[in-house]
Order: sequence, then C-alpha cells, then structure tokens
Amino acid sequence: MIKSEISIPAFDIKQQYTTIEAEVSAAVLEVLASGRYIGGSIVEGFEQKFAAYTGVSECVACNSGTDALYLALRAFNIGKGDEVITTPFTFIATSEVISAVGAKPVFVDINATTFNFDLQQVAAAITPNTKAIIPVHLFGQPVDMTALMSIAEAHNLVVIEDCAQSTGASWNGQKLGSIGHIGCFSFYPTKNLGGCGDGGAITTNDPQIAAKLRILKEHGQKTRYIYEDIGINSRLDAIQAAILQIKLRYLDIWNRQRQAIASRYHQFINQVPGIIAPQELAGGEGVWNQYTIRVLNEKRDSLRSQLQERGVNTMIYYPRPLHLQPVYASLGYQTGQLPIAEQASQEVLSLPMFPELSLEEQDQVIYSLKDCLS
Ligand SMILES: *Cc1c(COP(=O)(O)O)cnc(C)c1O
Repeated sequence: MIKSEISIPAFDIKQQYTTIEAEVSAAVLEVLASGRYIGGSIVEGFEQKFAAYTGVSECVACNSGTDALYLALRAFNIGKGDEVITTPFTFIATSEVISAVGAKPVFVDINATTFNFDLQQVAAAITPNTKAIIPVHLFGQPVDMTALMSIAEAHNLVVIEDCAQSTGASWNGQKLGSIGHIGCFSFYPTKNLGGCGDGGAITTNDPQIAAKLRILKEHGQKTRYIYEDIGINSRLDAIQAAILQIKLRYLDIWNRQRQAIASRYHQFINQVPGIIAPQELAGGEGVWNQYTIRVLNEKRDSLRSQLQERGVNTMIYYPRPLHLQPVYASLGYQTGQLPIAEQASQEVLSLPMFPELSLEEQDQVIYSLKDCLS
C-alpha cells in the first residue's frame, strides 16, 4: 500500500484564486471604491461578455443557477397544469423550480454511459400537458442537442438547458446554452466558472424573453414602481460580476486543463475491470465539472473509503435520484421504476477534478485506484 503524505481534495477552489489574486483583488477594491454595488456597468459588461462567449444575443445575470431556471420557466409562462420532462439524476434545483412554478416534474431514466437522460424515454414521456423539457448537461457532458431539439420542435416544446455544470461545453461546435430556447448557468464557486459567492445567468436569442426575464428578476417592475407581474429579487452583485469578468478570460484554459486530466484518468481507468469510465458522445465537447466513474459489484463504498485512507478524496453525486426523494413521494414513483438512475446512484464515484490538480496528484489518484483494486 502506498502511504500518501499529501491529501488530495475532491475539489479545491482556493488554489485557483491564488493564481489570479492580484487581478481579482484590484477589481474588487475598484467596485468597493465605486459605491456602485448593485447593477451598473460592471454587471452589464459581464452580461455582454458572457453573451458573446456563449454565442447568443442576450444574457440576463441573476443571483443563482436556481433562480436562472425558475425565471426561465416563468418567462415561458410554465405553471399549473403543465408537465416538464427532466432527469432524476441531477441536483435538486433542476426539478425544485418546476415544482416552485406549480408545474409537475416528469422524470425519465438516464443513459448508463453518459449519465444524461435517455432521449427515447423523453420522447415517450410527452403528453398533451407537456410544455417544456429541461436537459441537464450533467458533469459537464452535453446532451445530444440535435436529437433533443428535433423532438422538441416536433411537439412545440420549450427547451430550457440546465448548463450549471457545463459552462464552456459545446455540441457540434455550438456552445451549450445557445441551442435550446434558453440556457441557465450557475456561478456557484465549484462550477467551471465560479464566483466568490452565488451567481447565475440566463442566455437566449429571444429579445422578448430577455425583456420578460429582466422584469421578473426585478419584482415584476417594468417602469419604476409600476409592477405588472409577481416577480422576485434576483441580482448578480457588482463584486461577483467583476470577479466573473476576470475568470471568464481564463475559462477556456481551465476547461482544457480539466479535459487533459480527464483524458489521463481515462487512459488508465478504461482498462480497469469492475470500473466503467465516463464516455463522451461524438459531437460533444465536455468540460468535466466532474469525472465520475461507475464502480460495479457493490464495491463503490468500500473503494471510496480505501481511497480516502490513501489520501484521495472523492464525492458521490448523487446518492439518491430525485424521483425517490421524500419531497416527491406524492408523485407516486416506485423503487425500480427508473432503474438505471437508481443503479447509478449506488455506483457513481467522482474523482478529484479541478484545473490545478497536478500531475503528481493525478498519479496518486491513479496509483491509489490501482492499488485498491489489485
Ligand atoms: C449547481 C446546480 C444548479 C443550481 O445552481 P445554484 O447556483 O447553486 O443555484 C442547478 N442545476 C444543476 C445541475 C447544478 O449542478
């Protein structure tokens, strides 16, 4: 057994900060000195840069990825009586907002190799009440957006991309968040583009939807103190916008570092019996928010603790699929109904993944895995 001297975290956001500390500190101090903490040119500048980066005409910044999804549903008037199809294998925010607007989440099973929802099952779940589909590009891997858009167009459905884990990823050369009707992003610190606090953004090519989003995120106010709709308060702080503008310039570099780590992991893991490495679809360029393997034969939890003894920290995303969460008991899903998602929740293990993970640390992950499995 290799006794490690260093402990490798599953993610480390402090290291990244130290690489851009001078730039970030200067920008933050500038905002503090300006006295303009909400809105203003820094937030607008970030919206323009993020729209250009994503390849869309409109970007509306908001307070979180959760708010982005909520506002997107509201902008398309999705609510009571409507069904929204999504994956049960995602963070709760994706389905929580469907419930929050009064609509019904409809969960379909996933694909065992991509962890994203199965498009045949999406098509089969469409009913006369279906109004929208929320694809989640889980762990940074794109859903087949060509196939999904043709399903959606055939049934006149709205596609709301949950890009929270996939900022910078693309499908057939087009950035995610620019292919569906609307794209929702999170700048939570551990996402590929992470701020130093909460943050989110919504992208679209539809100026009317963007105008509606701007009203909804500011208390339903169209002209000052005249309220036309029930809105919320969802702003991106100027400090976060200043930090995100800087970090956006490095995003492609960081994503390439993640891709290099993933391919190094892949070379080794692809040949290990009992473990399934994540697969990428042809046409997709993923950004590896997580590198998630499947550990077969009920060995996941023991492997996880053995790795931890060797200083390799891992995460389990997600230990219970959403259709079996207590909050959704009233939807009536049974254990066994979405078997692939249920099995994945027992088998997944996310290895350390962040751009600054050194070659030595990657080796330690790989050798520890080898050691544990031999
Ligand atoms: C993080 C995340 C969200 C929510 O983003 P917040 O900024 O934390 O509100 C939504 N969907 C997915 C898939 C996420 O990973």
